[in-house]
Amino acid sequence: MPDHSLNTHLAEQLADLKSKGLYKRERRIETPQNPGIAVNGREVVNFCANNYLGLSNHPAIVRAARDALDQWGFGLSSVRFICGTQEIHKRAERQIAEFFGLADSILYISCFDANGGLFEPLLGEHDAILSDELNHASIIDGVRLCKAQRFRYKHSNMADLRTKLIEAKSARFRMIFTDSVFSMDGDLAKLSEICDLADEFDAIVAIDDCHGTGHLGATGRGAAEELGVLDRIDIITSTLGKTLGGASGGFTAASAEVVDWLRNRSRPYLFSNSVPPSLVAAGMKALELADTSVELRTKLKANTAKMRHGLEAAGFTVKPGPTPILPVMFGDASIAGKFAEALLAKGIYAVAFSFPVVPQGQARIRLQVSAAHTDEQIEAALTAFREVGQAMGVVN
Ligand SMILES: *Cc1c(COP(=O)(O)O)cnc(C)c1O
Repeated sequence: MPDHSLNTHLAEQLADLKSKGLYKRERRIETPQNPGIAVNGREVVNFCANNYLGLSNHPAIVRAARDALDQWGFGLSSVRFICGTQEIHKRAERQIAEFFGLADSILYISCFDANGGLFEPLLGEHDAILSDELNHASIIDGVRLCKAQRFRYKHSNMADLRTKLIEAKSARFRMIFTDSVFSMDGDLAKLSEICDLADEFDAIVAIDDCHGTGHLGATGRGAAEELGVLDRIDIITSTLGKTLGGASGGFTAASAEVVDWLRNRSRPYLFSNSVPPSLVAAGMKALELADTSVELRTKLKANTAKMRHGLEAAGFTVKPGPTPILPVMFGDASIAGKFAEALLAKGIYAVAFSFPVVPQGQARIRLQVSAAHTDEQIEAALTAFREVGQAMGVVN
């Protein structure tokens, strides 16, 4: 039976993953998502959520979701254009557009869908997409669905981007697309240089700001604001599933024409259900909080600096960067893995990443700092790092 042979084949593949230490196991969290969570019946401090401002269980957001359940109901059983658009969806799209200073925005169930549905409607075989080699999987998939010519430039390498722009000169439209924050390294795209090149070669600039929206920039407009180029970005995709409440929902903000065209042609929008009103309302509240939460961003910066300096003072190598993503470098995959296990035994939950998620020989533990971490939680993490580091001979 063909089905049986597929299962046999997969069982072999799975065994192979396990033998290579690449099998993904899901650790069960026994509480809501917070800086302090329970795992295996134990309290641990969480340093691996994308909960940068600590809004994932903010009472005002939970309340907004609950109120929206009462006012707008649970589900819509429809895509947007049939009978799935409520006033709240239109209000949210207006709020998101105004937040970024763009003409309009369109909601998706996720940013994965926003990216999956962006390229194919806008660009065709006469056009060119120039994409950073480290862009997120959803961008890679979205680009694959599109007939435009593809140019993959080396990570943040502006000379290579220029070469590719010259190669793409005869295309009708050129779109440069980059993650604005690269989540494994915590570095920002060189958006200022990218915008200059876009001016020179008449290209559209589009960014995925998932790891920047809400917490980067003086007013939380994300990486483009942090780098002073928000008004030079043509298209922004991002998520409600990280800083902005952490549930789900994504969006694309752009010109009125781009958004209107996406409403007419973007397949994940046309052929997938409306975002539930409770998530929409929670996203709006999260955006409002991000807009006004100067203290949370200040606290996030202070927490990040405290963590980075503490790790460096203890002898660890932390990749440089301006974001709350702190990659602590170990090099060797098995050391990084054992280190993370030892941290968990001491009540610190952080995940080790190794090849193929990061390049060979660059295994690391990625810490994600939150504004909601207390000073005591940061201290506890630093103590655990020092103790495990000395016990394992990683630092003196
Ligand atoms: C998390 C992430 C996504 C996916 O966002 P979802 O809303 O969870 O689908 C897309 N792009 C980048 C860069 C991300 O970090």
